[in-house]
Amino acid sequence: MDCLFCKIVAGEIPARKLYEDDQVIAFHDIGAPAPVHFLVIPKKHIATLHDLSEKDDKVLAGHILFTAQRLAEEQGCQDGFRVVMNCNDLGGQTVYHIHMHVLGQRQMHWPPG
Ligand code: 5GP
Ligand code: ZN
Repeated sequence: MDCLFCKIVAGEIPARKLYEDDQVIAFHDIGAPAPVHFLVIPKKHIATLHDLSEKDDKVLAGHILFTAQRLAEEQGCQDGFRVVMNCNDLGGQTVYHIHMHVLGQRQMHWPPG
């Protein structure tokens, strides 16, 4: 499958990994617009949030969220951080394998652009 993040999961493309288990992997975002910016992704290919199944993926979705929470704290974001999931073209998604952005260590503003 021609998916960038599946290639990172398979180890075919290098990434600066923060965490990995049988269900998820977390790695630093290559763009780094914040001092802390990493991504938590499922190992299973799910293209967009529209494709996440309430029936099949509930435990996985929770695991992504709690992995983000734990790693944010490990990355020094005790004072706050932001999580973002962009969905589809209108939502600003560019890589079609779902991922939770975790951004921190700088002041965030709302709404985003
Ligand atoms: P999206 O716009 O789909 O929500 O976010 C995709 C993110 O993936 C972007 O923040 C982008 O910087 C990041 N990204 C794209 N290609 C790579 C890559 O090859 N390695 C890593 N670590 N991040 C990537
Ligand atoms: Zn994929």
